[in-house]
Amino acid sequence: MSSWFKRKEKGIVTPTEQKKETPDGLWYKCPECKTVATMAEHKRLLATCGNCGHHDRIDAADYFDFLFDNHQYQELDADMHSADPLGFVDTKAYPQRVAATEKSTGLKDAVRSAHGQLNGLGLVVAAMDFKFIGGSMGSVVGEKIARAIDYARQNRLPFLMISRSGGARMMEAGFSLMQMAKTSAKLALLSEAGLPYISLLTDPTTGGVTASFAMLGDFNIAEPGALIGFAGPRVIKETIGKDLPKGFQSAEFVLEHGFLDFIVDRKELKQKLTELLTMLKPVEVAVPEAATSVR
Ligand SMILES: [Zn+2]
Repeated sequence: MSSWFKRKEKGIVTPTEQKKETPDGLWYKCPECKTVATMAEHKRLLATCGNCGHHDRIDAADYFDFLFDNHQYQELDADMHSADPLGFVDTKAYPQRVAATEKSTGLKDAVRSAHGQLNGLGLVVAAMDFKFIGGSMGSVVGEKIARAIDYARQNRLPFLMISRSGGARMMEAGFSLMQMAKTSAKLALLSEAGLPYISLLTDPTTGGVTASFAMLGDFNIAEPGALIGFAGPRVIKETIGKDLPKGFQSAEFVLEHGFLDFIVDRKELKQKLTELLTMLKPVEVAVPEAATSVR
């Protein structure tokens, strides 16, 4: 047996900067099927795998970029920033956590909203950023979504919500839960005004977000493979003391059980939305005759 393959010297350490690895940012390896693609190809496929169709998590800005015509849109309430209503401290004080997250992500909170054109159709979109404290819904998230809905109503535009969230933000406790009622009430007003609401659920959509605006769409649609649920699978398993069925809480499972209208591949999202929005074109609500005849 050749000794070539035996390491005789111990403790050989190559400094990190001399290691001959593929530089970051050039290649993408699919976490599902391990297929390798260039980052340029991965980006062209909107962060989905060309082999197995796995959908990677992307940011609000990425959705805006490919949904809005010519990458152009007007961001709404961009500077809204979280307060600390409860003086909450866990491993660190909440304001410190927010400041650190703002610095590391360049975001102000876990949702962004914008107005633009989608294939020439005016649309308001609010999209969540999971990397901001797990896409958790606190006062800023709820308020920005509420304002985006108001903006849609005032300008007679349809509304698209792209959810990606771990649920309510525990650091704002009850204030987070209030956002469920607030956003739901605003959506009811949008509906009364005869304006469509489409909810896109992406991986993951859970907790108070699923239990409020994410499931209230005129159409509830999802990306393939997205985890969709209220409580996590471990919690449910421990509660009911039974094994869960295969694929439990996947978008496909949820579709089969009647909670979704359809699943849409991200590469087809813009076209599908164009079809839906054309079909759902806002209707003018007729003013009742009695209301006009009052003197
Ligand atoms: Zn793959």
